[in-house]
Amino acid sequence: MDCDEFRKFGKFAVDYLANYLDTIREKQVLSGVKPGYLEERLPKRSPQNGEHWKDIFEDMDKHIVPGLTHWHSPSFHAYMPTANSFPGIIGELMLSGIGGCTTTWDSNPASYELELKMMDWLVKMMGLPEYFLNSFDGLGGGCIQNSASESTLLALLTAKHRLSKISGQTISDKFLVAYSSKEANSSVEKAGLLASVPMRLLEPDHNGSLRGDTLLKAIEEDKAKGYVPCCVIATFGTTGTCSFDNVEELADVCKKQNLWLHIDAAYAGTSLICPEFRPLMEGIEKVDSFNFNPHKWMKVNSDCSALWFKDTTYVQQMNADGDLKNKNPDKLPNIHLWQIPNSRRFRALKLWFVLRIHGVQGLQAHVRKQVDLARYFADLVSSDERFEVCTSNLGVLTFRMKGDDCLTKELVESIQRNKKLFLTPYNHNNRLVIRFVVCSSFTEKSDIQNSWKHIQDLGNHIVKR
Ligand code: PLP
Repeated sequence: MDCDEFRKFGKFAVDYLANYLDTIREKQVLSGVKPGYLEERLPKRSPQNGEHWKDIFEDMDKHIVPGLTHWHSPSFHAYMPTANSFPGIIGELMLSGIGGCTTTWDSNPASYELELKMMDWLVKMMGLPEYFLNSFDGLGGGCIQNSASESTLLALLTAKHRLSKISGQTISDKFLVAYSSKEANSSVEKAGLLASVPMRLLEPDHNGSLRGDTLLKAIEEDKAKGYVPCCVIATFGTTGTCSFDNVEELADVCKKQNLWLHIDAAYAGTSLICPEFRPLMEGIEKVDSFNFNPHKWMKVNSDCSALWFKDTTYVQQMNADGDLKNKNPDKLPNIHLWQIPNSRRFRALKLWFVLRIHGVQGLQAHVRKQVDLARYFADLVSSDERFEVCTSNLGVLTFRMKGDDCLTKELVESIQRNKKLFLTPYNHNNRLVIRFVVCSSFTEKSDIQNSWKHIQDLGNHIVKR
């Protein structure tokens, strides 16, 4: 393929995507295919001779699209938002087309410096502590990682490494322990397994918030048994109900006990661009590391996960001798040493496109609109006496049918069988609830009304039986 053909191919692909997204509202959000459906439809081996891209697009329509879950449909209310925006798509295309891998500054000065700058833009627009700035004359800084899961793992490994440095000895894994909440994302427990630091999952309070006294009690119990506490992973916006651990209280305990405090703000971190949501984050100035995913709620297509350290000394020490010699000129931060892979994609380009095209005000409007839509849904639920709203935080809401759990179970199963909406069940305070998340950027009030009508109709059916 030459550049002329690439132009045609690329233009066709952009048109294809524009048509796909333009008509996304009309598509059934969940596919009807059965497991293994592609096995029969596609050849057993890759083609010997190259094919024309038009044939591939035809097969895309015939075989791939029918098996898609339409994550950007306004009827998709499961999990958490996964960003998709036109600037994000083009940013991804540009970084992929320009290609290359960035390691040290000289491997790609533009990519390296844009990442430093974008991370600083985020700190300022979210009101994060100054010590996270790459341009601040201190030990802190941040860079882009692949995912929140990887960021949690890196923070935990750093905390473990720091502990061995400050205690002057390597502490056997069997004595180490870290803490998080039972409401934490499963990636937190997984990080504990990967880092060989057992993650003790503590009981949050009735609002789903992990409190300082619960943490302190666990630490004292473990110390009495000879364990060595190492790290606390707090969540700002849990996956289940978007609850918030009490960062202020946890930070005070961590300071007194000399523990590392990491914040997983994968989804809700984006809300900090709106000053009215910042009180949720009291205590942020006391944390050791902080992570959120612009690829969730900030319109930057996946992958793009921002991680900052208050002090990068320890993460930087966890490199092979050869890597450590690979330093940058002058006083540039060594962000290539604050990650697990050796090289990095030019992901800052996506942030640059998104932040410039939407501007801070555009992104604030996006967050506020989605929060308002979730509140509107809560009002609709509350106005039907058969239902109750259980939690409502930012764009994440949980609700249930009043009465025995079996009614809610039947309702969610019927919604999933029907495939017109995608919602997931969750166990909240020992009761079955249904999560409703405003995920798609295309969602309008009329979509929320349609979703609610569909739920009510299915609810009618259940009550009548
Ligand atoms: N942490 C929280 C609070 C989440 O909600 C999620 C995913 O929804 C994750 C971590 C995992 O994010 P990632 O897929 O970027 O690893």
